[in-house]
Amino acid sequence: MKLGGQCMCAAVQVAATTSRPDLRVCHCEMCRRQNSFAFVSIQVDQDSIEMNGPVTVFKSSDWAQRAFCKTCGSTIWYGMQSDTHRNLSAGLFGKTDDVLVQEYFVDECILGAGFDGAHQKLTRDETFALFAPSTGDTE
Ligand SMILES: [Zn+2]
Repeated sequence: MKLGGQCMCAAVQVAATTSRPDLRVCHCEMCRRQNSFAFVSIQVDQDSIEMNGPVTVFKSSDWAQRAFCKTCGSTIWYGMQSDTHRNLSAGLFGKTDDVLVQEYFVDECILGAGFDGAHQKLTRDETFALFAPSTGDTE
């Protein structure tokens, strides 16, 4: 399935291919600071991404990078250096019937609780365990 989207100012245009555009939500401190609440993303293979525009890549920790639009500041993606996936900001794309499949750092959600639903809900410790040895993007 082909995804096509853009940042808030439309300077950054993004296209990517995914077999299933599942949504993932992260409540870690860095995602909260960057996005005010949680970061909602769609994981794609980085080789499938076609991107044009003023994208700035920021090394946010020893293991991860985050990209944003240099013009308007919209979050573009999060990715770990140890794999070839990129988690594109779901907000770049129009509303679809995407399904929430995983929620990370639910015990750090700014509202005290995460999203309702039957998806997998992982605490901070469980999130770190899932992504070990390259842990999630915190502190
Ligand atoms: Zn922009």
